[in-house]
Amino acid sequence: MPETPLRAAILPVTPFQQNCSLVWCTATMRGALVDPGGDLGKLKAGVAKAGVTLEKILLTHGHADHCGQAGMLAAELDLPIEGPHEDDRFWIARLEDDGPRFGIDTKVFEPSRWLTDGDTVSFGEIVLDVLHCPGHTPGHVVFVHGPTRFAFVGDVLFQGSIGRTDFPMGNHQDLIDAITQKLWPLGDDITFVPGHGPTSTFGRERQSNPFVGDAALARA
Ligand SMILES: [Zn+2]
Ligand SMILES: [Zn+2]
Repeated sequence: MPETPLRAAILPVTPFQQNCSLVWCTATMRGALVDPGGDLGKLKAGVAKAGVTLEKILLTHGHADHCGQAGMLAAELDLPIEGPHEDDRFWIARLEDDGPRFGIDTKVFEPSRWLTDGDTVSFGEIVLDVLHCPGHTPGHVVFVHGPTRFAFVGDVLFQGSIGRTDFPMGNHQDLIDAITQKLWPLGDDITFVPGHGPTSTFGRERQSNPFVGDAALARA
């Protein structure tokens, strides 16, 4: 693999152990936090330990465990927020109703930039591709770094499972379509960080995932 300057550290936050990722460019030591849902003290300590200068906040979707404290962090550190897709506007609007129910202190915010399929986001010398993958929420996006074969998929796909679709505006078929038509074509060798739980690869999930594995889909 060619030497590429992307590094990532996973920092689980909130009572849901949501996988916030600190991602950075080793050439410039500039980076971003993907889904800083809560535990901002822990996140700021992680950023300081890595020696990273934050450029922005990236969001996969509008659920409280992923973005409940993104607005607070953005205001405190004067950072732009990029993502999710605007179809998650209603989730962000209800953060202050949802947060207390989940034990997360939350604040509503307006992203600096809504994202759509085919966009790119950048920090330092790193450029990530944006894929709109609705189903878990209508405005869910996934971030992909082709050169290192790495993706941040939020609550679209997990090791051995897929995202819930029983929320308002959730859609099971949209989720299956997004995974099989947008993620699988990227290649079996893509390693992904899910929103919760351990990392896996697309190839491993195609072999064994009971919801979107090749065998499961052949039976459907
Ligand atoms: Zn979610
Ligand atoms: Zn989640």
